[in-house]
Amino acid sequence: MEHVDFLVIGAGIAGLSAAIRLAAVGKVLVVTKEELAESNTAYAQGGIAVAMGGDEDVALHLEDTIAAGDGLVNREAATVLVEQGPQRVEELLTWGTGFDRENGELMRTREGAHSRSRILHANGDATGREIAVSLLRHVREIPAIELMEWTTSVDLLVEDGRVAGATLLDGEGGLRVVRARAVLLASGGAGQVYSDTTNPAVATGDGIAMAYRAGAAVSDMEFYQFHPTAFAMKGAPRFLLSEALRGEGAYLVNAKGERFMERYHPLLELAPRDVVARAIAREGLDEKGVAHPVFLDMRHIKDVDLHKRFPGISAFLARYSLDLHRDLIPVRPAAHYLMGGVRTDLMGRTNVKGLYAAGEAACTGVHGANRLASNSLLEGLVFGARAAKAMLEDDLPMGSADRTKESPSNLDLTSLEEMKTQVETLQRVMWADGGLLRSEGLLIEGLRMQTQIAASLAPYDCGAEKCRAMLEAESLSCVARAILFSALARKESRGAHFRNDYPKRNDAEFQKHSIYTADEKVRFEDL
Ligand SMILES: Cc1cc2nc3c(=O)[nH]c(=O)nc-3n(C[C@H](O)[C@H](O)[C@H](O)COP(=O)(O)OP(=O)(O)OC[C@H]3O[C@@H](n4cnc5c(N)ncnc54)[C@H](O)[C@@H]3O)c2cc1C
Repeated sequence: MEHVDFLVIGAGIAGLSAAIRLAAVGKVLVVTKEELAESNTAYAQGGIAVAMGGDEDVALHLEDTIAAGDGLVNREAATVLVEQGPQRVEELLTWGTGFDRENGELMRTREGAHSRSRILHANGDATGREIAVSLLRHVREIPAIELMEWTTSVDLLVEDGRVAGATLLDGEGGLRVVRARAVLLASGGAGQVYSDTTNPAVATGDGIAMAYRAGAAVSDMEFYQFHPTAFAMKGAPRFLLSEALRGEGAYLVNAKGERFMERYHPLLELAPRDVVARAIAREGLDEKGVAHPVFLDMRHIKDVDLHKRFPGISAFLARYSLDLHRDLIPVRPAAHYLMGGVRTDLMGRTNVKGLYAAGEAACTGVHGANRLASNSLLEGLVFGARAAKAMLEDDLPMGSADRTKESPSNLDLTSLEEMKTQVETLQRVMWADGGLLRSEGLLIEGLRMQTQIAASLAPYDCGAEKCRAMLEAESLSCVARAILFSALARKESRGAHFRNDYPKRNDAEFQKHSIYTADEKVRFEDL
């Protein structure tokens, strides 16, 4: 049994932003499932939205965030985000984050639904990696922070109604129990719940599932943002083709070579993501209902060197003999960002004492029903810091109970293979039944399938060895059910949640946040 003051689960932008502050007061352990830079943060391309142009810019950033959220943004949370964002980004600059500059000035680009160019980027289209690398460089200089790679948090330690630590599984399959005065879930999103996703393999929603098991309320799970333009070529990864491409003027064209966004939204290719994603899904369907890609077209852009502006994307496309200046690039939507998560107040506190959450794992309501592009890196930075502040202010004592009992794993290689197959089915079912276009029939069928999958996982025991696969299967099953139940309960269309059977927004009944509680019940609470 080990003791630290603060345990941070996750080494993305939210976890590291918190750890830096917590280290001023005590010993901090940061754990991460794989290598340190394997997080959604490190894959972020387009940039970080921040209003550094004064009060008017801050006010407009707030309005853009609220408009994108389709009536469900928590205004207070969004105000905190846009007002504290510039200060937090200034800190990043002092910690050495090298955002792109021209003649010494920070370069700013514009993405969908932003009224101004306010997105900082780094190395063209590798913003997340630059932020991750610079944050890690800074964190490594702080002796009070221990970073533990290849370490998976399996469950939270709950005693006397509070969270007092977690059980961790190391890379060799060894279990250890770490006690802490407070635990921060900064474990990111859950894109792996869908067969098509831009998220890396670590994004399995473990933190949300652990919190749910510990009695924490989970909120707004029906709102999953589907990125409209992930690369779509058979056998190739669903690599993200950043919205910044459309910001630089890329058109979307269908198989006939026609631009089609004028039929869907006045902002054309820069319409909100959910509108663009659904438009692509519809345009790509053939008469038999089979989905095909549509295309990004930048061949008309002559005044920008696209290789220089998008070096990462250009290098990726070159592997498939494609070139932004010369070729049409096939794209289809993919699950990208979870607006919902563990419900917190504006300081990252959950309803369970000792448990805090920040970043994509959390839900403050800041994104409402749809996240404004490039607001999530900022969210991790701002709310990670705020959660740390709350953990320090609450100043909880160390818990005292003995180590919890761990049962031995009963997983062998055959059952692991079976489990892998079940997980693939779960992901396909979610894409078909709980994806971009939903209906009561599909959601009920999805739940029926998920119940079967959950039953097939039940005999396995998450003991020691090979436990990560089991934990992830359980997490995905929990998150899938939360999404389906919440989507079924929300009988309207809003933001990223679209119901064919309720295609209109219904403010009278549903201008509320959904709360998914321990008994798989969904209730709605006022903003
Ligand atoms: C391809 C892509 C491009 C994106 N582009 C942008 C962009 O341009 N701008 C923007 O604002 N946002 C972007 N996003 C979204 C943004 O990157 C994320 O929302 C944000 O980085 C989340 O940060 P986080 O700290 O909450 O979680 P993450 O960065 O995902 O970090 C989660 C951490 O938790 C760890 N973890 C998870 N489960 C466990 C466990 N059980 N035990 C131990 N550790 C665990 C992971 O290993 C990881 O270290 C993009 C996302 C993707 C996938």
